[in-house]
Amino acid sequence: MDTTIRPQFKFDNSFARSMEGFFSSCQAESANAPRWLQFNHVLAEELGLDPVALDSEAGLAIFSGNDIPEGSQPIAQAYAGHQFGGFSPQLGDGRALLLGEVIDTQQLRRDIQLKGSGRTPFSRGGDGKAAIGPVLREYLVGEAMQSLGVPTTRALAAVATGNVVYRETTLPGAILTRVAASHIRVGTFQYAAARRDEDKIRQLADYSIQRHYPETANAENPYLAFFAAVADAQASLVARWMGIGFIHGVMNTDNMTISGETIDYGPCAFMDSYSASTVFSSIDHGGRYAYSNQPAILIWNLSRLAETLIPLVNPKQEKAVELLTETIECIQPLYESYWLTAMRAKIGLSTEDPSDSQLINDLFTAMEKGNADFTLVFRRLSNALRGDSELVRGLFTNPVDFDAWEQRWWRRFEQDGISAETSAEMMDSLNPIYIPRNHKVEEALAAAVDREDLVPFKKLLNVLTHPFDELEENEDYAEPAPPTEIPYKTFCGT
Ligand code: AMP
Ligand code: MG
Repeated sequence: MDTTIRPQFKFDNSFARSMEGFFSSCQAESANAPRWLQFNHVLAEELGLDPVALDSEAGLAIFSGNDIPEGSQPIAQAYAGHQFGGFSPQLGDGRALLLGEVIDTQQLRRDIQLKGSGRTPFSRGGDGKAAIGPVLREYLVGEAMQSLGVPTTRALAAVATGNVVYRETTLPGAILTRVAASHIRVGTFQYAAARRDEDKIRQLADYSIQRHYPETANAENPYLAFFAAVADAQASLVARWMGIGFIHGVMNTDNMTISGETIDYGPCAFMDSYSASTVFSSIDHGGRYAYSNQPAILIWNLSRLAETLIPLVNPKQEKAVELLTETIECIQPLYESYWLTAMRAKIGLSTEDPSDSQLINDLFTAMEKGNADFTLVFRRLSNALRGDSELVRGLFTNPVDFDAWEQRWWRRFEQDGISAETSAEMMDSLNPIYIPRNHKVEEALAAAVDREDLVPFKKLLNVLTHPFDELEENEDYAEPAPPTEIPYKTFCGT
């Protein structure tokens, strides 16, 4: 490996340049004995970086926080946020450091951030560090989401630091290098609003408009149009989560981006057998962020964003509230239309019928009653279209409800007039066979943490990067976990 090439990033740090008051400059802590865990060549290329130069000792030094690349201006960003409904006026990057921004090969501006690189002025009581398990978990789930076509932050690199992290036990430390369209959150707006600083809110809104929704700058009311654009992106995002059985787990306002990318894969998980009330997070006692609650929380979070924009939308507070409320009232139908479009396609329909929503909801009811696996039901529907219903039927403990549903589905399908094979192919390109199954993720993380064995992680990552391509040799990656007495729980990625 050639270590003489110094990796170049061509940073252009617009946030550090123009968003004074929203960050603190700081440095990464040094890593004692950095070691590579994973590097994302494809993403590096997409970012216009040199993967060969980065996949080296010099790259390892950068991604472990031991070397600051040329042009980087490391900062920790400030934000506030509602966490489980309670407001904290100051959170911020307590364990993350933005190295800078690059313009990728598609001319899009992307943040490059170290997560787990040590304390910052926003760390409060925390150590600013991350452990190998949660870092690899975020890597796996984020890259799986990307391959599933869901907007998400990405993972460029994961490295072990050689430092010890103290949690319930001592754990090996690691750093994830995360890439995002930006790290501006609903909570960033709340940070400015909590300080009652209208100029700061405007500065942040103008920056966000320019960076993410430049078309709204020309609208009659740019700030209202900006709000509608964020609401649209987020409604579309949550509809996609719902379509793959994804539960974010901590939909706090500080974990909700303005760009519409999924962010902060902590206690998230995909459900196996379908149940609307599924919760995985060990700290979500009230089920606030349960699967079926996610669309309601979407609206709740966007309402918090709307509140911060009141002074910008109209000088008369009453008028501003009226305009923003009108937009908020559109979110539910907007979300439903995204959901319905996605779900129709998932069951192989190409046209619209007023009965479709009922048809889809009845499938979910049958799945819930029959303890059927979310991912496999949708995937195996295409087998039914190809003449073999037994694979999908067999997923239901008692298939009577499914049988009745299937008859209705066939009638609706015939009305569509598309050939079964065409629809089946479309369905296989939308309904994954491989998702990050909890037991497979845990298995891969345990091997990496307990035995420094990255083989299961790399294999799983490879499978998840091709979620629609069914291969016989990968059969066990498609299977749900064997039944256990104890329900699966996830823990915050701290
Ligand atoms: P998260 O759970 O990643 O959404 O984090 C919520 C807040 O807690 C953010 O402000 C984080 O920066 C902060 N935080 C989480 N873990 C740590 C840690 N180990 N050290 C410092 N701050 C942390
Ligand atoms: Mg967070």
